[in-house]
Amino acid sequence: MPQSFTDTAPNFRGVERLVRGTPTSDGAGVKLTRVLTQDLQHRLDPFLMLDNFASDNPDDYGAGFPDHPHRGFETVTYMIAGRMRHKDSAGNEGLLQNGGVQWMTAGSGLVHSEMPEQEAGVMEGFQLWLNLPAKDKLCRPSYRDIQSANVPELTTPTPNPDGSPGGVLVRVISGSSHGVKGAMHRPATTHPTDTLYLDLHFPAAGADFLQDIPAGYNAFLYAYRGQANIMDAQGHPTAVPSQRMAIFDNTGDAVRIRAQGARALLIAGRPLKEPIAQYGPFVMNTREELIAAVEDFQNGRMNSGAQKQAN
Ligand code: FE
Repeated sequence: MPQSFTDTAPNFRGVERLVRGTPTSDGAGVKLTRVLTQDLQHRLDPFLMLDNFASDNPDDYGAGFPDHPHRGFETVTYMIAGRMRHKDSAGNEGLLQNGGVQWMTAGSGLVHSEMPEQEAGVMEGFQLWLNLPAKDKLCRPSYRDIQSANVPELTTPTPNPDGSPGGVLVRVISGSSHGVKGAMHRPATTHPTDTLYLDLHFPAAGADFLQDIPAGYNAFLYAYRGQANIMDAQGHPTAVPSQRMAIFDNTGDAVRIRAQGARALLIAGRPLKEPIAQYGPFVMNTREELIAAVEDFQNGRMNSGAQKQAN
């Protein structure tokens, strides 16, 4: 008899809605698809934005993202293909490339650039904006460059405990899956958003991927290669076409995703339930804090990066 998935049958979440991204450009004219737009910030709290850039035309990405500030949240950049160099006002520098992750905590503020380090070829990846709780919005800025070899991977056992085919390759960027801790594994006691960030690669023959996600956490799936299907508690599939985001409903405590050869990001986190005030690259809790952010930036007080803490 197969070992049960959990002690009680999991209540698989269904799909609340499908979202088609919005084509836009940012930085000095980088073409991208904004998957998670500002109107979804409350629904998908603690996530503020998800951009997908994917092009083999250097005209779409060559201009990059010259010097610009951030305050009050974290940016998580995941490169599928290509090379991007990061420099910030604290003197930090790193090269982000194929399969690697940069996890930047802007905190009290920094000025940085993100520039392509290639003149041809494919540039493909994602940038997720993850909110910080009010208590941490002015924390010391920091960042981690995680090379691809240091992103933990696992292949789920096949068959799954319920008998369905497994064998899904999982890259664990944050949180944990099937007992494997992610590259960014932070205790929920100190990091209340308790973020799960998985990149799922389904085998060509097809498989089901099962993952516990606590009830109440907001969760979404973005299919970036091929189509995935979300299987609800009754076993009914909802197709998630390529380049679409599916927002899971919040009724269950697990998800089941079925696909053949597709690749998808599964992202979930505990909502902060705090006021969100955004002005461009600054995300705070109040309008007054945004005005202070603009003043600090205009007066050069974000240029010292880590030294900002001395104030
Ligand atoms: Fe940036």
